[in-house]
Amino acid sequence: MLLRNLQPLFSAGKIDIRTHDGSIVAMGAGLAAGDGGVVGFDDAIVFPGLINSHDHLDYNLFPALGNRLYKNYVEWGADIHANNKEVINNVLSIPLDIRVKWGIYKNLLNGITTVVNHGVLLDAGNDIITVYQDCNVLHSVQNEKRWKYKLNHPKANANSFVIHIGEGTDKAAADEIDTLIKWNILKRGLVGVHGIAMNEKQAAAFKALVWCPASNYFLNGRTAAIDKLKQHVKVLFGTDSAVSSPWDLWEHIRLAMQTQMVSGEELYNMITETPAEVWGLGQCGKLAQGYDADIVVARSKDGLGPMGSFLATNPADILLVMHKGCIRLFDASLLPQLAGLVHVESDFTKVSVNGSHKFVYGGLGGLIASAKKFYPGLVFPVEAIG
Ligand SMILES: [Zn+2]
Repeated sequence: MLLRNLQPLFSAGKIDIRTHDGSIVAMGAGLAAGDGGVVGFDDAIVFPGLINSHDHLDYNLFPALGNRLYKNYVEWGADIHANNKEVINNVLSIPLDIRVKWGIYKNLLNGITTVVNHGVLLDAGNDIITVYQDCNVLHSVQNEKRWKYKLNHPKANANSFVIHIGEGTDKAAADEIDTLIKWNILKRGLVGVHGIAMNEKQAAAFKALVWCPASNYFLNGRTAAIDKLKQHVKVLFGTDSAVSSPWDLWEHIRLAMQTQMVSGEELYNMITETPAEVWGLGQCGKLAQGYDADIVVARSKDGLGPMGSFLATNPADILLVMHKGCIRLFDASLLPQLAGLVHVESDFTKVSVNGSHKFVYGGLGGLIASAKKFYPGLVFPVEAIG
């Protein structure tokens, strides 16, 4: 397939991108049409499929649960289980496979083609987007039983150990970071999530830190000192789940920019090239010949330039999401061009996202209806139409 007339974020002229067998095989101006069809764009930016380094796929049918700001995650967990028990039970009555599938769609609708799941190993598949689970997951110092033993188990695989850490503003949150570092006897590659209470010295003991500002401000009223920590540790970006943050990744991105602790380009790297390297995703996170055809096309915004348009994107602006060379979402305006290239009727569901119509791969309409059978009070940010 040839995607034509796209504005990359970091170079001046527009380009075409040719994909074949799941990979990008050519990029440049004025490529010949070839086999596989052509999809042309008028005024659009292009960037790699984004990599969300922290989510709990099965928690995305929860509304945001929090009744005040908390000093740490232990306090939050106790409070919502005491005061929000009914909604928690309602959501947990929905079968796991439905909850996980919605979590996958939440990511796709944002232009994310790889998500790192935190939790037990899920039977999630990789057909819509890539669900990365090939790491050692520990919940947290307080909530993971026998974490010291698991962290130092001689037969653990060599991949990263991912753990929520320092998620709070009090001494307990800061002290647990020192405890984790002290007990990392075999010097495992630690990927910490949150690190609100983390200092620069502690940061240097980690392989990477996943920054989730939207979740942090909602639960704790503060986020990690990324302006300082980024000098000592690789920083990745994560949304966390809907239980503590909005479903819309792009709100998270704007919040991150408002902190003035990172530049647009730094933030871009935190959801593309840096996580591809840290998680060992191979030829992913970059638009280049030989790389995976994980590609997102979005509307340009007048007068903002490519990076400004990227940072101002909303889910409604996303025109096309390709995962490993397969189209998984496209805007209704592309229907005339795509009608002969994909099986629209049998393979896609038409949905409304903030008033904009998209075609999404798979049975999203049926999924929403199934979830509501178990919990009629559910509110989804998209609606199946047609
Ligand atoms: Zn989390």
